[in-house]
Amino acid sequence: QLPTIYAVTPTYSRLVQKAELVRLSQTFLHVRKFHWIVVEDAANRSKLVAEILAQSGLVYTHLSVPTPTIHKLKESDPNWLKPRGVEQRNLAIQWLRENRELSEEGVVYFADDDNTYSTKLFDEMRWTKRVSVWPVGLVGGLRFERPLVEGGKVVGFHTAWKPTRPFPMDMAGFSVALQLLLANREAKFDINAERGYLESSLLQSVVSIEELEPKANNCDKVLVWHTRTEKPKMKQEDALLKQGKGSEV
Ligand code: UDP
Ligand code: MN
Repeated sequence: QLPTIYAVTPTYSRLVQKAELVRLSQTFLHVRKFHWIVVEDAANRSKLVAEILAQSGLVYTHLSVPTPTIHKLKESDPNWLKPRGVEQRNLAIQWLRENRELSEEGVVYFADDDNTYSTKLFDEMRWTKRVSVWPVGLVGGLRFERPLVEGGKVVGFHTAWKPTRPFPMDMAGFSVALQLLLANREAKFDINAERGYLESSLLQSVVSIEELEPKANNCDKVLVWHTRTEKPKMKQEDALLKQGKGSEV
């Protein structure tokens, strides 16, 4: 019996949202025993996301929770100023605790909506016992970051930015066994975590470095990339709007 992969995706309304979610859904369609938990950063679930999910052909759960105003990024803020998607990931963890049994085999992966995922990544994470780890491409000012592996164990990390963090890893670089999240009922992401410490805030409470399970050929292969989508320029749309010729889609 294949364990289920639960991919948790926080998402928020913006021009590229539909494109991101369609692209992601079509990657995920290639993955067996897959359950997509999409959590909108909004007070209510939107029609746009509901329709993408309904048409996706995926098994899914659609949730929403707004980021509290004091923690919310403004348009003018640089995006590193505040943690993003925290309350949304935590709501998904809570949903799993309320809707899944400790006896169920599964793994939880926090899959942001703008990254690029190889379908091979999901074969790597599926049999996670506690926490699996692997490299992430295009992140932290490097071509890739990765756990360093010796004798099948993680002994350190190739990271340039804040290497003294307890777990100097990107969100895309690990998966957590469902049972571990269900058993540790306090485990969650800390919205007040210092910049760069969000991943550590969850991982510290459930695993130690020695227990990490290196995947992707002893962390030799990049199977996920921290790509970021350019914000589209809407100069011509704005001009049309001013002329009263704006179009609603
Ligand atoms: N996100 C969100 N609310 C926000 C900003 C981001 O829910 O106000 C989501 C976003 O859709 C993505 C995740 O949080 O799935 C991480 O955000 P982003 O990709 O902007 O962060 P970065 O990759 O720069 O760390
Ligand atoms: Mn991103």
